[in-house]
Amino acid sequence: MQLIEKPFAMRLARHVERNELGLVPWLARSHAARLVLSVILLDYGLYIWHVLTHKVPQLWRFHLVHHIDLDLDTFTAVRFHFGEMLLSIPWRLAQIRLAGASPLAVSIWQTFLLASILFHHSNVRLPVRIERVLSFILMTPRLHGTHHEARREHANANWSSGFTIWDLLHGTYKWREAQGTTGVPAYQDIKDVTLPRCIVLPFEPRVEEDDGFDARGLARDGRGEVQ
Ligand SMILES: [Zn+2]
Repeated sequence: MQLIEKPFAMRLARHVERNELGLVPWLARSHAARLVLSVILLDYGLYIWHVLTHKVPQLWRFHLVHHIDLDLDTFTAVRFHFGEMLLSIPWRLAQIRLAGASPLAVSIWQTFLLASILFHHSNVRLPVRIERVLSFILMTPRLHGTHHEARREHANANWSSGFTIWDLLHGTYKWREAQGTTGVPAYQDIKDVTLPRCIVLPFEPRVEEDDGFDARGLARDGRGEVQ
């Protein structure tokens, strides 16, 4: 990603900054305000991308590889199919262009994002009361653990990657103290989550899932229709 995405992203960010393109130069004047606003807008763009990776079947086939991990730890944070990484590049470029983010803003956001995803996928156990308060600002391990639950009624929540304000605003913030089974129902066997399997998984025919979930992992209602 460093080799493929960074040259394009940084070149675009330089172009955007020089020509004052996008929302940020229009909304803020000072350098500091532009940086803060850029990071916030880039973070929101990633929230939307994350929702799309779950709702668009073709994207879910790739994002699935991230979700079939059977137990969450920091490694899960970097467990993404290369197809998903490649597909996210045009989206990232659109984010930079629309937001009007400078190269410095992109770097700050990417550093913050990396720290955030390593943290909220980790198995750090924070005192519940502290984590509850923190979860209203930043994505935390317990909050994101709910997003990784096998039960889709729990997993269709907590899509934020940095600030949780996006889940709070969209009504997708879901706090659960207890954690259910992690993963995706059709891939609960250790044989299904090996590296060779993960590489070919997005290109395999969809597996119909039982126990009230369809292949995209979305909960069905009583009549068997995808909600
Ligand atoms: Zn996800």
